[in-house]
Amino acid sequence: MPEIIKIDNNTWRIEDGFVRFFLLEGEEKAALIDSGVNCPNAHDIAKELTGKPIILLNTHGDGDHTSGTGGFTDIYIHPSDYDACDMKNNYPNTSMIPLNDGDIIDLGNRPVKIIHIPGHTKGSVAFLDMAKRVLYAGDSVQKGHIFMFGTKRCPELYERSLDKLIAIKSEYDCIYASHDSFMLSGDYAEKVKEAWKKVQSGEVSYEMTELHGNSVKSYTTPVCGFYME
Ligand SMILES: [Zn+2]
Repeated sequence: MPEIIKIDNNTWRIEDGFVRFFLLEGEEKAALIDSGVNCPNAHDIAKELTGKPIILLNTHGDGDHTSGTGGFTDIYIHPSDYDACDMKNNYPNTSMIPLNDGDIIDLGNRPVKIIHIPGHTKGSVAFLDMAKRVLYAGDSVQKGHIFMFGTKRCPELYERSLDKLIAIKSEYDCIYASHDSFMLSGDYAEKVKEAWKKVQSGEVSYEMTELHGNSVKSYTTPVCGFYME
């Protein structure tokens, strides 16, 4: 069973093994940010916590973030991940509503801004909880290893995406991550960018490791890690 932890009076984190997802409640509706790796009943879990109608906002389409998708009729996800993550085939009965860069979804006195940050996947987005000054960055900013191998990824766009988060750092005080440490400091995107640049320039050594049947390079830095081709 996932562990449910209340963060404040209208925000929860749901710890689903190695990944977590979040419930944000506004005055009119609530949003689940992702739905875990082993939670086909994510909608039911959220319904226990809020009486408001619940929408599903996806940081991206990877399987460890989308297990509860089938419990929703409408899900919000960036169009670049419809195909990249095979969402239409995996969830044929679900309608996908596009998340676009700069859109604001208001949950009722709780606006959430969409920031498209391709890199980890083509359709990765961050959600800025504007009133609470919290950034939900999915897998793109975290302390654990960030997957950057395979056809879903676009590492060539990742640094520019981190720059986008850094450019708006005056709008958030901290970052909530989907893996590893839950809360990161507001300057963590800058730290990840420095680590990424060091990996790109060959300053960080790697070990080969087996992951999902692939032989990949594992880079580890004090800030975060990367799995690469
Ligand atoms: Zn993930």
